[in-house]
Formats: sequence, C-alpha cells, structure tokens
Amino acid sequence: MPIELVWRAMSDAAPYKGKSPFTMLSVEECVATVAKQVLGPLGVEELALADALGRYLAEDVVSAAPIPAFPASIMDGFAVRSSDGLGTFPVDAEQFAGNDVGPLQPGHIRYITTGSAVPVGADAVVKVEDTLQRVKSSGEVEIDVLVSSKAGANIRQVGSDTAKDEVLLRRGCHLRASELGVLAALNRSCVSVFCLPRVALLSTGDELVELGQVPDESRGQIVDSNRPLLCAMVKELGAMVTDLGVVKDEVECVRATIADAFKFADVVITSGGVSRGNKDYIKEVLEELGELHFGEMCMKPGKPSTFATVKSAENQPRLFFGLPGNPVSCFVTFKLLAAPAILKLAGMGSLRSPVYPRVDAVLCQPVQMDPVRPEYHRARARWDSGRIVAESTGFQRSSRIASIAETNCLLEIPKASGTLAKGTVVKALLLGGLRPEAEGFPSAPQAQTALGSCKRRRVGLLLLDTAQSSKVTEVLRASLDGPELREERRPKEAEAVKKVVESWCQEKNGLDLVLVLGELGVGNKDAEVVDTLRNMVIAAENVADLILHEALKETPLAMLTCTVAGYRHSTLLATLPDAPGVGQICKLITSLP
Ligand code: AMP
Ligand code: MG
Repeated sequence: MPIELVWRAMSDAAPYKGKSPFTMLSVEECVATVAKQVLGPLGVEELALADALGRYLAEDVVSAAPIPAFPASIMDGFAVRSSDGLGTFPVDAEQFAGNDVGPLQPGHIRYITTGSAVPVGADAVVKVEDTLQRVKSSGEVEIDVLVSSKAGANIRQVGSDTAKDEVLLRRGCHLRASELGVLAALNRSCVSVFCLPRVALLSTGDELVELGQVPDESRGQIVDSNRPLLCAMVKELGAMVTDLGVVKDEVECVRATIADAFKFADVVITSGGVSRGNKDYIKEVLEELGELHFGEMCMKPGKPSTFATVKSAENQPRLFFGLPGNPVSCFVTFKLLAAPAILKLAGMGSLRSPVYPRVDAVLCQPVQMDPVRPEYHRARARWDSGRIVAESTGFQRSSRIASIAETNCLLEIPKASGTLAKGTVVKALLLGGLRPEAEGFPSAPQAQTALGSCKRRRVGLLLLDTAQSSKVTEVLRASLDGPELREERRPKEAEAVKKVVESWCQEKNGLDLVLVLGELGVGNKDAEVVDTLRNMVIAAENVADLILHEALKETPLAMLTCTVAGYRHSTLLATLPDAPGVGQICKLITSLP
C-alpha cells in the first residue's frame, strides 16, 4: 500500500471505521462479566397460585400443617379394631371419603373407602379383597374378616406424608405444574415469587421490513426475523417483553430509542449495528449512555457482541445486550449471554453461568475447527444407547437460519486447525429438550441400516455442465434389474441443482438413489453447489469415503474434488467425479446390498 494511503487509514480523517478498538474477551470472561453485573432477583410480589406458573419462588415453602391431617384409610375395605382379630362382624355404618359418621360401635366393623378418616375406635383397615360378604335372609349383611391386622395397618398416620414444618420447596425454585400441585396440597392460594424482568427489544437496520410485509429485494430489503426470534426466546424464559420495533440506522434514532427503553426496562436487547460498518452505532451510543463492558467476544458466531450497563435508581444496574445482526449469531449470543442474566433477574436459584447442562456428546459427523475462535456449533442431541450423540445442523454460516432449526444443543468446538473426526467426544451445552433415542430425524445408525437394506431401483442422474452420462447409465442398467432411470442436465448452478434434487428426493415417493455427475472442485460455483447439496442431506461419511477412495485409484488429483454423500429423507444422494473411473464407483454404490 502506498505510504500516503497507510497514513490516511490511520488518521482520524479515514472515511471508514477500521479494526475494532475493543479488547477481545474470551467467552468465559464475557459470561463472568455479565454475571458480575447481575446482582440478584429484581423484587418480590405475591401472586395467586394460578398466576404463578413459570415464576421463581421468593420464599422457602414449609408445610403449615401435617399431611394427612387425620388418620386416613389407604384402602377400600373395613375399619376394624385389630384386637378383634378374625371372625364375622356386622357393619355399623358406611364411611365415605369426606364424611364422618361417628365412632366405631363395639363388636362391629365399618365399611370405609380410600381417603376416609378412620373412625375413632378403629385402628386398622382390612382391604375388601381380604373379606367375604354374607347377606342373611333378613337382608342384614355380615362380613368375614379373613386376615388379621396389626394396629395401623392400611392407615396413613397424621403427618406421615408430610410432617408439619417440613420444607417442600426452596427459594429460587422454578414453579412448574408439579410445584403448583405441591403448593395447592399445602393449601397455598397465594405465593411469594420474584418479579419478572422487563425486557425491551429492538432491531436496527435500514434493510429490515416487518414480518408479513413484502421486502423490496431489488433494494436488498429483508424481513426482520431477529425480533420475533428474540421475543420468543425471552418469553420462553418467562420474562415480560416490550417490542420497540425496528429502528433506522441513524445515530439519533438509535440513541433516543435506547435511552427511552432504559426508562422502564431492566434489560434492553438490540440486534444489529454492533460491527464495523459506518452505520453501526450501537457501541458508540452505549458508551455515551452507560458503561460498555465489552465489545468483542472470542467466539464464532457472535464476535461483535456488546454488553453495557446503565445506572438506575434501584440497586441493580440496567443491562444492555447488543447482539449481532446475523440471525444465528443473535440466537447463540442470546443463549450464552442474555438468557442467564434474565433468569438470574427473574430469581432462578442456584444460578451458575452458563445455565445449561454441560455434557459430553459424541459427534455424528466430522466437524471442521476454526483456528482463530472457538465455535458454538448448533446440533441436535439425542440419547442413544447410553450416551448423548449430536447430529450437526449442517453448514454453520451465521446467516444460515436453518442451522438453528430444531437445535437443542451448542457443541463447544475448540479453536484449532483441522477437523474433529466423527465419533469425537466434545462438550455440549444442552439448551433443553434432549431427544429420546431414534426419534424425530433420521439418525446415523438408521441411515446405515437403510443403506444395507434398500434396493436402489429408482435412480436419478443429474449431469452438470459437460458431464458424460453414457458410462454411468451403462453401469446402472447393467447392475440394476430394470431401473427406472431419470436423467436431467443442468448448468453448475446451486439453485438449478437444488430444484432438481428437491423434486427427486421428496419425503414421500422420492427416488432411491440420486447421482450428481460432474467435476466439483475448488471453483466458486463448485463450492456453492457443494454447500447447497451438503445442506440438503444428512451426511453418509462412509459412502463419501468410498467414492474418494475409488477416485484416488485413478488420479491423486481426486484429492481436490469435493464429494457429497448423504441421505435426504430416504434417498441416497452422492456426487460422482466426471472421470473415466466413474463407472467403477457407480458399480460399487449400486452393488451395496
Ligand atoms: P449488522 O450486524 O447490522 O451488520 O447485520 C449483519 C447481518 O445481519 C446483515 O446481513 C443484516 O442484514 C442481517 N440482519 C440484521 N438485523 C437483522 C434482523 N433483525 N433480522 C434478520 N437479519 C438481520
Ligand atoms: Mg445493520
């Protein structure tokens, strides 16, 4: 670069923002910085039980009275004096749950149902199955007691379920349906809970249109998807949301809206405007309004995440999270930074950050590492034969919203060069909803089974650019007994390829095998096609290895080609090189049992 240009770039007169001036903190440092600013729950309020669902308890809940409060029958049967032993007895009365018909008459037994108070005079209950009933000709009923009982048999003694003064729920406990049930059993119609944090949300970006409006794509407009996402994530935490809409990328608008939000909100969350674009104003506005604690986080995605606090009249400072605009960054950084803080303000007990179970998970696919930043790789974790396995959500670019669909964990991929092999155990933060075995999406073991059993007779052959089909069709016709063969030619363009693959690999009635024939190497167009195909399938690594292995026999240049192999629904898709040996590879794939 000429000297003069270097000088201009370094001086104040430089027209564009350059490198970030913020010190990049590690994720752990950022999480700890946020945690330090959250002093504790916001306040306490008394709520009717029915309104307390999802809240966090602000008191230890103690049983004010023993449960049961009276000796109660555990069985439907007969209340007896245990000292009377076996014999035949008249029934003095019937005692149903919820009524009292006085003490047991001497020489009698009492019909009693489950939950009824055992009458004074009785000290045991004989279940109905241990008796015989006799109806005399006079209509009088007598009962043979066939088993003798010890005192106390089949009776729940006072306080035997819950003693008086027993602590059943602790402060900070999350009130779900089960806890409301406990409170109801203690006859608690009101309960003391922590107040909900008020969270204000806004999106920044001149390019954004409201959900449901039609973006003018010729101008680069897009739908604001971050706000609905953030709204829902805040609601999932149980906090109160105020939606402040989209704010234009004008410094005055950004400043005024955020300053107004701090007048009422405990937490303000924005998306976009934190990077190094000339219209990214969030950081400078927060430096004016409050204290900016960090403006760069060493992670992928979410590097420019910003955290600030603003003093308030109350003890607890107001929190500000400036999340990046890319939807995936917005999702991940919300989970790592904002969600724990909101939960702590809401009164979640025993709060550690991050708040997610950190478990070991086995990779279902190889995962490429980043040499500069650790990555939080979105994945779907499930329980599988005694361990947690994690299926990647595919291509992880921070704009690719599909990578958060049905994600239930973030895999902590360390900063390093190279690739973590399939089967590697990594740490995973469970965001919730661990899937049961073999549920929801096709798992790798299922995919393997399908490979072993399927007769691939309906085949699609997609020829890219100059690819020759004759060898492949010859092999297909020879190796498959009367295959239904479809053939299409397309230019090497991601959209065109995607359309054909989608129509051939439909969930219902998709083809058995789709072969994409063409040279897919390092060119830009090649990379787009490869990315598109990878995102459309669940990888079948072994098939990809097999293809590469065969191709390498032809030429070492095969190392430079990109192979995609995997399942889309029940269709096996594989890319084949446009090389003389393709017939052999094709033979191998079709000969799989
Ligand atoms: P920014 O962080 O503002 O530089 O935005 C980074 C990328 O995220 C850009 O491609 C934006 O168009 C996109 N983006 C920003 N805000 C949103 C939003 N609310 N919804 C969807 N995409 C967004
Ligand atoms: Mg922006």
